[in-house]
Amino acid sequence: MRLSNNFRLSEFTRSDTAKRLGIENECSSVEQVLNLAYLCHMVLQPLRDKFGPIRITSGYRCPELNSAVGGASNSQHMRGEAADIHLPSVDKGLEYLAFLKTLPVLDQLIWERNGDICWIHVSAKRLGKNHRQLRTIAH
Ligand SMILES: [Zn+2]
Repeated sequence: MRLSNNFRLSEFTRSDTAKRLGIENECSSVEQVLNLAYLCHMVLQPLRDKFGPIRITSGYRCPELNSAVGGASNSQHMRGEAADIHLPSVDKGLEYLAFLKTLPVLDQLIWERNGDICWIHVSAKRLGKNHRQLRTIAH
């Protein structure tokens, strides 16, 4: 199922961890899919249009998968409001970040780091207030 020009639902539900643990990571409500489509239209497709193909490392997470990866108990990943973006390099990541900051709708924009690996967590809410929160988290 296509969510926007260049994004498919399967990119947001596939997970190596889910596969390994035998967790069926599928959206359980239409709202979650609508939220993902909104995130694509407002955030990810504009980023893709600017930079070319980007890779989502974590999109939707069912509660079981979210627990398995140690996600926050109220994680926006469980509502289809958030995605983690692979960064080909730190420099490219900083370019992504600078671009994402200019978008009109943004709830959280987080630069995350675990050892040598950095990624961007970005979220947008289809319903409710978007907070434009910018943070850095080191794991
Ligand atoms: Zn995330």
